[in-house]
Amino acid sequence: MRVSEVNYSILIVFLLVHWLTLDLVATTDLSAEAVFWFFGMVGFRWLGFTCAAHRYFSHRVCSTSRGFQAVLGVWSTLTMARSPIRFASGHRHHHLFSDSAGDLHSFRQDGFFKSYIGWVISKRYHENVLGRVSDLKRFPELVLLNQWYFVPNLVLLALLYKIGGREVLVYGGLLSIVAVWHLAFSVSVLFHILGKPTYCTGDDSKNSFLLALLTFGEGWHNNHHANPRSARLGHEWWQLDLGFFVFVVFERCGLVWNLNRSCGPSHAGIPKISPAKVPQELGEDGAPASGSVLVRL
Ligand SMILES: [Zn+2]
Ligand SMILES: [Zn+2]
Repeated sequence: MRVSEVNYSILIVFLLVHWLTLDLVATTDLSAEAVFWFFGMVGFRWLGFTCAAHRYFSHRVCSTSRGFQAVLGVWSTLTMARSPIRFASGHRHHHLFSDSAGDLHSFRQDGFFKSYIGWVISKRYHENVLGRVSDLKRFPELVLLNQWYFVPNLVLLALLYKIGGREVLVYGGLLSIVAVWHLAFSVSVLFHILGKPTYCTGDDSKNSFLLALLTFGEGWHNNHHANPRSARLGHEWWQLDLGFFVFVVFERCGLVWNLNRSCGPSHAGIPKISPAKVPQELGEDGAPASGSVLVRL
């Protein structure tokens, strides 16, 4: 990654949040309550990432009211994926160019540093990829969240301080942000490295039971690339997918409807890979074979 590609204002904010958090962690007692709030907030933020930022805003896996959409929008900002518009734009870009030239975060194309964290601090992500989100930009409240995404986070931090003082603020508020950042950066690389593919999607996406367990279903990433518009990332009964379960609860409560619960690929041009055929269909070096299909959003 070249120095000229770096967005320095984002880099400085990013480093300051790390420095401030680690400094406060080093000087704040760790109690059982702090551990509870840390894991609770990591779970809350990550569920917001998979359900709101990823499945709803990036892939529109269901319909909902404008009011509940705004709630999902605020939840999305609390994952520190910046705003729903920003994340959806970058993520739709990933699906369009997955592991080919132009992908924002591809280990195959750009190696570890850029696919892990380089893309987040790049000018390209923050300045040039706000296309493909006209369906979201027509809602003024989402545009407002795009500019003021940090406000819900400041309100949450104030609330946590009010609830439990410095300990809960530091571990539940700040450290959970940094943890969710690095969880998101790690899995965006690992989803295309660890595990095995089920479908011939033309990219390096894989399915991993372990990653799916850790990420509330996101680890069924090859399934997701084969059928991006489905709310259901686990296609088999044994493929645990907590994110989908949350949408089923939302549906039962009348908060969402038209939930896309389809399993299998989105169209017949994406065949299943039989284990014996993996070497031919993915190529010796893991690159897609000429007949494979790159799934468009
Ligand atoms: Zn992917
Ligand atoms: Zn996706």
